[in-house]
Amino acid sequence: QTFKESGLPEEVLKAIGELGYETPTPIQSKTIPEILNYGNDLIALAQTGTGKTGAFGLPVIPQVVTEEKRVQALILCPTRELCLQITKDLNNYAKYYKDLFITPVYGGTEIRTQIRALKKGSHIVVGTPGRMNDLINRKAIELGDVRWLILDEADEMLNMGFKDDLESIMAQTPEWRQTLLFSATMPPDIARMSKKYMQEPVEISV
Ligand code: AMP
Repeated sequence: QTFKESGLPEEVLKAIGELGYETPTPIQSKTIPEILNYGNDLIALAQTGTGKTGAFGLPVIPQVVTEEKRVQALILCPTRELCLQITKDLNNYAKYYKDLFITPVYGGTEIRTQIRALKKGSHIVVGTPGRMNDLINRKAIELGDVRWLILDEADEMLNMGFKDDLESIMAQTPEWRQTLLFSATMPPDIARMSKKYMQEPVEISV
């Protein structure tokens, strides 16, 4: 299956062509149609290096309504480094969507700068759970229009003690959202969390 057959629009195909991506990785082949069709919630067992960021980023980006200056996708990840890497990858995928704005937020740094960045209007926010939750509580991030909630390296986030932050965020995002959970392993906590906060998730492993 090619990227073109997967249903991605020209703007995305052009951007990833320039990055040298020729064919979808196995995880991308499975997630892209499911996300483009706004289908089931997904639990994807995938290690780093499998093309995870593209697996959620490539199909979400073209569906963001840039005219609506509201947060439409939240991406949660365990570390500042991963947060910045995801933001960089997504900005590359969104090269031909000039008015699409992505903001990274993470702890250990001045929150006011991040609040100011968010105020300019972000469509996608990528962040670590503690700081994300803090910004939500301060009403710097509005959750009412969040269509996609993405958990990247969910097992790592739990290992780092972010369970309460994750649950709080999941409980506050709209019920009609599509939830996409990526994890290298499936400990009982994740199975339990997915039962509670996801709707009939389809499991994918690569
Ligand atoms: P990730 O698992 O998201 O960290 O991706 C691992 C690496 O593979 C990154 O450097 C991506 O830019 C690259 N990559 C992701 N998808 C593809 C693809 N379909 N073809 C070639 N490289 C890819």
